Amino acid sequence: MIPIGGLQRFSSIDYPGLLCATIFTQGCNFRCPYCHNPELVKKDLFRPPLSCTEVIDFLKSRINKLDGVCVTGGEPTIHGQNLKDFLEEVKKLGLLVKLDTNGTNPELLEELLKKRCIDYVAMDVKAPLSGYAAVTRSPIDTYLIHESIRIIMNCTQEYEFRTTVIKSLLTRDDLGQIGILLKGARRYVLQRFVSSRVLDLEALNDLLCNEYEVEQVAEEMRNYVESVAVR
Ligand code: SF4
Repeated sequence: MIPIGGLQRFSSIDYPGLLCATIFTQGCNFRCPYCHNPELVKKDLFRPPLSCTEVIDFLKSRINKLDGVCVTGGEPTIHGQNLKDFLEEVKKLGLLVKLDTNGTNPELLEELLKKRCIDYVAMDVKAPLSGYAAVTRSPIDTYLIHESIRIIMNCTQEYEFRTTVIKSLLTRDDLGQIGILLKGARRYVLQRFVSSRVLDLEALNDLLCNEYEVEQVAEEMRNYVESVAVR
């Protein structure tokens, strides 16, 4: 079973348009400096995980009160078939499932989509492919990212791609390249960085884009993607 580092019993923002519970898995293969969940990324900060049975029992008690579940992290797909087993248990309860992913496990993602274990997928697109290692501070085969984008763009479920906009990590040219990468996608979300607790705050000096700058980027993205939102 998957290591669950946290459970938010009720959220009206994690699954667009629906009421959900949010499940946080432990462990991630990236080290993005703006990460808001270091306790799910750095092993020495992990808390003893909740048991999956306990979480499933909680969800059972919320049938008819919740529409769905958002599974986020950390990076849920690093847990492979254990994630699939868990999502199948959730689907048996009749709940909708949204998965947040960094796109590094396209094989599993494709299986989860094909088997209808997920109803909504949100993939972070961290950078243009050439900048991935620098932004995520992790060695990454960008073929995997490209594959996940391709799989999601061809799925029948709802989806969104999203990018956290931070000036010191992404230039306007980088964002333009992301637009080209996502050409033809249905939905894209620009996330304004909110400075609070992050993995590496020092790396993020001079990081905030003002509203006008983010709106300018959104306007540019509308050349590539059907629907662009700012969050
Ligand atoms: S923001 Fe980056 S480091 Fe944090 S959980 Fe997401 S992919 Fe992992």
